[in-house]
This record gives sequence, C-alpha cells and structure tokens, in this order.
Amino acid sequence: MKIPFDNTYGDLPAQMFTRLRPTAVSDPSLIAFNAALADDLGITAGDDAQIATVFSGNQVPDGADPLAQLYAGHQFGNWNPQLGDGRALLLGEVTDKNGTRRDIQLKGSGPTPYSRSGDGRAWLGPVLREYLVSEAMHALGVPTTRALAAVRTADTVIRETLLPGAVLTRVASSHIRVGTFQIYAARGDKEALAALYDYTVARHYPDVTDPSGLLTAVLHRQAALVARWMGLGFIHGVMNTDNVSVAGETIDYGPCAFMDTYHPDTVFSAIDQYGRYAYSNQPGVAVWNLTQFATALIPLMPDQDEAIENFTTIINTFSDVFDGARRDVFAAKLGLTDATADDNALIDDFLTLMARDGADFTNSFAALATDTLKDQFVDQPALQAWETRWRSRLTDNSSAIMAKSNPLIIPRNHHVEAVIAAGVAGDDAPFHAMLNAVTRPYAALTPETAPFAQPPAQGEAVTQTFCGT
Ligand code: AMP
Ligand code: MG
Repeated sequence: MKIPFDNTYGDLPAQMFTRLRPTAVSDPSLIAFNAALADDLGITAGDDAQIATVFSGNQVPDGADPLAQLYAGHQFGNWNPQLGDGRALLLGEVTDKNGTRRDIQLKGSGPTPYSRSGDGRAWLGPVLREYLVSEAMHALGVPTTRALAAVRTADTVIRETLLPGAVLTRVASSHIRVGTFQIYAARGDKEALAALYDYTVARHYPDVTDPSGLLTAVLHRQAALVARWMGLGFIHGVMNTDNVSVAGETIDYGPCAFMDTYHPDTVFSAIDQYGRYAYSNQPGVAVWNLTQFATALIPLMPDQDEAIENFTTIINTFSDVFDGARRDVFAAKLGLTDATADDNALIDDFLTLMARDGADFTNSFAALATDTLKDQFVDQPALQAWETRWRSRLTDNSSAIMAKSNPLIIPRNHHVEAVIAAGVAGDDAPFHAMLNAVTRPYAALTPETAPFAQPPAQGEAVTQTFCGT
C-alpha cells in the first residue's frame, strides 16, 4: 500500500496532540473499501488483506505520523475542559487530486491518553452507520467527512452487550473543531491558540486576514451546512462544540438520523432528553456553537471590549445568512427560480401540511414531480389549495431543479438498523446493497434500489438511536 502522506498537524506545538501508534486488533477482515475515494487521494492499494491490515491499524503505512488530537467542548451545553481523540488516530494527511489537503483518520484504533473511561474501540454498528450516512451525504452534495474503509475485527467490544469490533477509516478536510479552539482559549495557551488560528486560516480560509474574518467565514459555512441538513430532514443528534468542524463539514456521525415522517420537533438520540438537538433547533444550536467559537477567538484580539462588540455584530448576522441559505435550499426543492422572501410562506405552508398529516418528508418532496403527491396527504382540499399557489410559481426549469434537489433515497433508519443486524450476524450483502442505493440518491429507482426508498411500515419505524460508541 502506498499513501502519499504529506503531514503538517504534527508540526504544531507539541501540547496539541499525542503521538502514538494504533493498538493491534485480531484477525482484521475488509468489509468495504472506497476505491474511488482512494484514487482521489492518490492511494495505491494492495489486495483486500493488505487493505484490512493497514486500515485496522495493524500495520502503520510508510510516511504516516499517527497522533491523537486534543480538544475540549461543550457537551449538551456543559463545558468539558478536556476531550480529544479517545478512540481515533490521525494517520496523516494527503493532498488530493484537486489539491486539497485531507486527513486520514482511524476510528476505533485503541485507547489514547484522551480516552477517559472509554476503551478506544468501535463496534460494527456505528462503523456501518457512519459509512452509509457519510457516503450518502456526499452523494447528496452536502459537505461531509468521507468513509475510506471499514474493517471487521475478531475482537469483542463490550457495550450493553458483547458486540463485534470494527475500525472505520474516515477522510476529512481536517478534524479541527470549535472545541479545538476552545481548549487553548480556556487554558490561556496563547501559543497554541495562535498557531491553530494560523494553521486553520492557511488550510481552510486563505483569504481571511483576521479573527473576525475567520468567524464570518465559519459562520457562513455553518449556516449553509445546517440549511442543507434541514432540506434533507437530517438530524445530527450531537451538535456539541467538539462535533462542529471549523471547515464546515458534517462530522462525527453518532445517533444521527433522517426523518421519515415530518415533524419539526423530531429527536432520535436516546441521550437527547430535552430535545436540545431536535430537527428545528439545529439553526439555533449552530448560533450557540458559533458564539462559543467567537469566545475562543477573543484572546487573539488586541482589545477585548472591541472584540466582543465586533464578534456580536457578526454573530447577529446568522439569522439573515441562514434564512437566505434555507430559502435557497427549500425553493430549489419546490422547483422555484428567483425565490424571494415572499416564497417563505409557500415553503412553510407545505411543511405545515406535512407535519399535520404525518407525511413522509423525503417522499413528499419527491412526489412534487409526479402525480402521486396526493397519496402523501390526508387533507386533500388543503393540499389542493397549496398546490394551486405552488403551480403558479413554476417555470420551465422547475422540473430539472426539483430532480437535482429532491432525493428519492436517503439512508432511512429502519434500513440502517437492518443492515447492522445482518452485519452482526456476519452478512454484509445488505450493507453493500444499501450503500449502492444511498450513493445514487437522485437516480431513477431500479429493482435493486427501490426497496430503500420505502418508508417504514407500521411497527418498522425506528424512533430512537444511540451513540453506541
Ligand atoms: P462523541 O460523542 O462520539 O463525539 O465522543 C465524545 C468524546 O468521547 C470524544 O473525545 C471521543 O473520543 C470520546 N469517546 C467516545 N467513545 C469512546 C470510546 N469508546 N473510547 C474512548 N473514547 C471515546
Ligand atoms: Mg465527537
């Protein structure tokens, strides 16, 4: 295996990470390898056995500089002064075919100094879930970390029960989190904070010239990202500040889920008791997280009072920036060109009808392009009234816009759970069938992919998801 590593994170101040090697696993076997992504990264892979050896951590490839990154974060609003990669290791970085620097990280590679009480391992379930959902997100056109490989191990991982172990290799624009800034601000470590700032600007925002510029740029990316999630009925589930990528990618897929039936209050995560990270709260949480980011940037500013004033002004732009991004996303889903603020009512009224009738989010939008829209709704007169208003806004381009904006397939929870159950029983065929379907979300359905467009039948719906780390 040849991976053209070109590592830079290890050149940052030494207190920002710990160098260590992965802990070996027993009997690694390959579940999936993303050959197209590997090709983008310039990786020359060997056979399956060799891929499994490298992407389980059993063999560290030449040029890798494995390290665990330090960070902190607000978890469900509570400050945790020290987190860090507790079960992950950055193997190193490569420059992809587009000239973009990408991290290659093992997840489930053994304990690190930041593991706290955790075992440093992952079990098969979250590995398959992250592989499917992150690759679906990419295919849906949403910024996200990617999945490069999934490897099964012969080790048992102890959670509520004994479960099969696995290692995921993921690829990210970087693993710099809001929490990575927070830890050095909280510790008063200006050396690390300034180095991280310079590194982040050089790597992600080369046009930025000061911390205000960085805050503005990150705000724009987060607003655009959350708007895309909203347009897909996606609920991240753990929008803690340590799970917010400064590069604006979806990261740390835990108890995440796509809604079947639309309701704005939907929560899946079993640990999200109060619905802090409910579907409709996500924009508000993004502002909260950006405020923590702004706070962490203050020590970089010469005058604290001026910084607070300036950053507050920037944070206050979020609602306009987000509203614009959201309108663009949903207007496209309705096939509208030149959407204006007046179209917000058309968007919101459709969502209200969906919520009232318990309509399927994905299939209702997809049905706009067909003659089956009425099948999704109960209140036919209300639907017809809305439809009349909507049709009056359509143009020649509407069908084409809708086809690119309304997926037929999202990774539905009941399918994810079925894939995991089969995987635990040793059968990876359902995983591969689902991966094939969710990575072609806008394509016409085929006999192979059509089952994955089906919402859960009664009794099949999954209402709770677990971190299951
Ligand atoms: P998450 O909620 O998955 O984003 O993880 C929050 C923190 O817990 C991070 O610092 C993780 O590295 C750590 N963590 C989660 N699961 C484990 C585990 N099995 N072993 C060690 N650390 C873990
Ligand atoms: Mg995390």
